[in-house]
Amino acid sequence: MPHPTTNPAPMRGRNFLMTPGPTNVPDCVLAAMHRPAVDLTDTDFKTLTHSCLDDLAKLFKTRGRVFLYAANGHGAWEAALANVIGEGDLVLAPSTGVFSWAWGELAKDLGAEVEELPSDWRSGFDSARIEERLRADPGHRIRAVLAVQTDTATSVTSDVAAVRRALDACGHPALLMADVVASLGSTDFRMDDWGVDVAVAGSQKALMTPPGLAFNAVGARALRESRAAGTRRAYWDWRQRMGKEFYMLFCGTPPEHLIWALREALDMIFEEGLDAMFARHRRLARAVHAAVEVWGQAGALEFNAVNPAERADSVTTVRVADGIDADRVRLLARDGLDVSLGGGLGPLEGKAFRIGHMGWVNEPMVLGALGVVEMALKACGVPYGKGGVTAAVDSLAAARFGVADPADGAA
Ligand SMILES: *Cc1c(COP(=O)(O)O)cnc(C)c1O
Repeated sequence: MPHPTTNPAPMRGRNFLMTPGPTNVPDCVLAAMHRPAVDLTDTDFKTLTHSCLDDLAKLFKTRGRVFLYAANGHGAWEAALANVIGEGDLVLAPSTGVFSWAWGELAKDLGAEVEELPSDWRSGFDSARIEERLRADPGHRIRAVLAVQTDTATSVTSDVAAVRRALDACGHPALLMADVVASLGSTDFRMDDWGVDVAVAGSQKALMTPPGLAFNAVGARALRESRAAGTRRAYWDWRQRMGKEFYMLFCGTPPEHLIWALREALDMIFEEGLDAMFARHRRLARAVHAAVEVWGQAGALEFNAVNPAERADSVTTVRVADGIDADRVRLLARDGLDVSLGGGLGPLEGKAFRIGHMGWVNEPMVLGALGVVEMALKACGVPYGKGGVTAAVDSLAAARFGVADPADGAA
């Protein structure tokens, strides 16, 4: 059989970027960037930037301070660590996938001593184990716990608030640092209510903004400790960015066009409303899950996240059985059918594909993407249960209109 991607047709119609970052950027967000750069001292731009910072704080649900960087998620990781974690500090990194592991590796590169709490990467972190480890640290050497809310590689969502409860239960003063890169805007996150000290995110996942902006949201205690921390940092330094001079808010020239894009995206987010936005993500995720459930009935495909309650609202990692090349399915969808999917990462390379369903997505996009995945499975000879897309339609119709499938007998 010829490789199905050898003769791609020219694209007619939209390409669906169903990768778990970057994601589809709405036309109005693109249009917001189509303008000349402005003077560094432009008053309107300053006002607009501060309005973005205020709205980001609302998104993180914090009264803390938000810092913006011209960087990606890795930059957000490094910024957060560089301000509070010094050489030789001990950091606990419960691992739920490639991203939580990689944040820990980055901390090691910065000189921290990192203790990973490994798992099978198919379920959320175990807060009881975290508490046990904290209790075994009566001298309070552990300086921070790095908690990833949704690990995009494994599509597992963990309970960040449970880490705060574990810390409080044993009176441990470690900072709680959360990565919400793949969950902010798709899944509820309550920085202050959950006692999170530092949260990191980026522009390009559920926030419908082009890649290139990184965020740190920082609570009062972490800010205080960062002032006292003797860590070496310059560009990332929160202190640099808190002065009166607007230019230093970005430690240099602001990424003006990305800020205009972000402003437009934040307007869209607050127009929809956070709860409606979370509900939309949940509804679309459930539809994807309904399809994967049915596809899996032929025994060749399964969810990576074993516990349904921990399956992410933003991305779904689908594992394929041994002997099946998941990348072939992904490349056929991308090059032949205008739907980009994520590939398997780390140990799942070639053994999984990932359907991103966050940001600027709706029913037709999700149904279209699922239809294309089904086509690609068929073209690649992967056995799958028939009726996945129909199951997604039923799930969405039930969620949107309360319409049960008459064939269920439930009507
Ligand atoms: C995408 C992602 C990152 C890394 O972001 P980059 O912009 O690719 O550096 C970190 N953490 C999580 C959970 C992510 O999904």
